[in-house]
Amino acid sequence: MNSSAWIEKGDKYIMKTYGRYPLVPVKGEGCYLWDADGKRYLDFLAGVAVNNLGHCHPKVTAALAKQAAELIHCSNYYNIPTQIELAELLCNLSFANKAFFCNSGAEANEAAIKLARKYSREKYGVDRYEIITAISSFHGRTMATVSATGQEKVQKFFDPLLHGFRHIPFNDAQALREAIGPCTCAVMLEPIQGEGGVVVPDAAYFQEVRKICDENNLILIFDEVQVGMGRTGKMFAHEHFGITPDIMTLAKALAGGAPIGAMIATDRLAESFTPGTHGSTFGGNPLVTAAAVATIRAIQEEGILNHTEEMGEYLMGELEALHKKFPSLIKDVRGIGLMIGVELAIPGGDIVKTALSRGLLLNCAQEKVLRFVPPLIVGKKEVDEMIAGLTEILAAL
Ligand SMILES: *Cc1c(COP(=O)(O)O)cnc(C)c1O
Repeated sequence: MNSSAWIEKGDKYIMKTYGRYPLVPVKGEGCYLWDADGKRYLDFLAGVAVNNLGHCHPKVTAALAKQAAELIHCSNYYNIPTQIELAELLCNLSFANKAFFCNSGAEANEAAIKLARKYSREKYGVDRYEIITAISSFHGRTMATVSATGQEKVQKFFDPLLHGFRHIPFNDAQALREAIGPCTCAVMLEPIQGEGGVVVPDAAYFQEVRKICDENNLILIFDEVQVGMGRTGKMFAHEHFGITPDIMTLAKALAGGAPIGAMIATDRLAESFTPGTHGSTFGGNPLVTAAAVATIRAIQEEGILNHTEEMGEYLMGELEALHKKFPSLIKDVRGIGLMIGVELAIPGGDIVKTALSRGLLLNCAQEKVLRFVPPLIVGKKEVDEMIAGLTEILAAL
């Protein structure tokens, strides 16, 4: 079936929760996708920061194929070797001592919210339940994570929201200090806001946040669903800020495209999750955790973090050159590693559409911020190809 036939059928049968572009990808390799008509696309969205190793990385594909032939699923009532291996890898790479697995970023944040509340009520009483999050944050689409998210467009239509969330301006330590009350139990933040438009805080902000949390016995939760797993040139984005959280959530890129979420924490907190207090049927099943183990090993074996730093600098330099070339169209270029935002003076929707028609996949967050989250394996050749395309598009405006 060709692309237009699939699009017509999709409109008939798939709910329109996404405004879908007229693209039907059927095959992927590295930084490229091919559609149902055989046309090739350079992918600078990578499934929204999911395909960090590119499409169908041979090690991830092989791990999935092997595990699919051995054991796809079994219950979390039993011990799952690949899940245990993954938990060990994540704990060795981070501040955490224990992991909980689920199937998405929203679920990872749900788990973090539940753990923070349970720990706090046991330690300080039932009135300690409020979680402070940031304006322009994004934490997911479930009711609790919608309530946590600091964006009206995500929340409207779904009242009443879950009680117990308070939103403060991001990158403002004084606002955090002032928001803390007797009910506050935790602070949940993205190290860099992704959906919020690639918002990078000042270097000192998170050190101040950590200090405030310590002074007030608050749990610090980092939502690294989008920025974790090497995206910024470090395995976890908070490593740039020289502090650690008490809980961290991961999802998007963790299993190279297989659906997974993880909530990892220190032992002090993890002890609150006793048998029966939380769970997930599919969470951390053999298939997805085999893919995640292969993904992390590939990041380590293939020097992906150094490469990301190098390519991030290269892409940033090229985008800054575009900024100089088109000063009236581009207002700001910002980011860390291969998590880069270009703030436009105009809405970016048409640029994304034109790019698509030219075989280039871009993304726009918050209407005016072009968000560049290519596969971390991207090379100079692909960056040059993207920049050449974008330059022509901007020049024609
Ligand atoms: C994508 C995202 C989520 C939600 O993840 P899902 O897998 O879509 O539920 C949560 N937090 C952040 C920071 C994200 O970027």
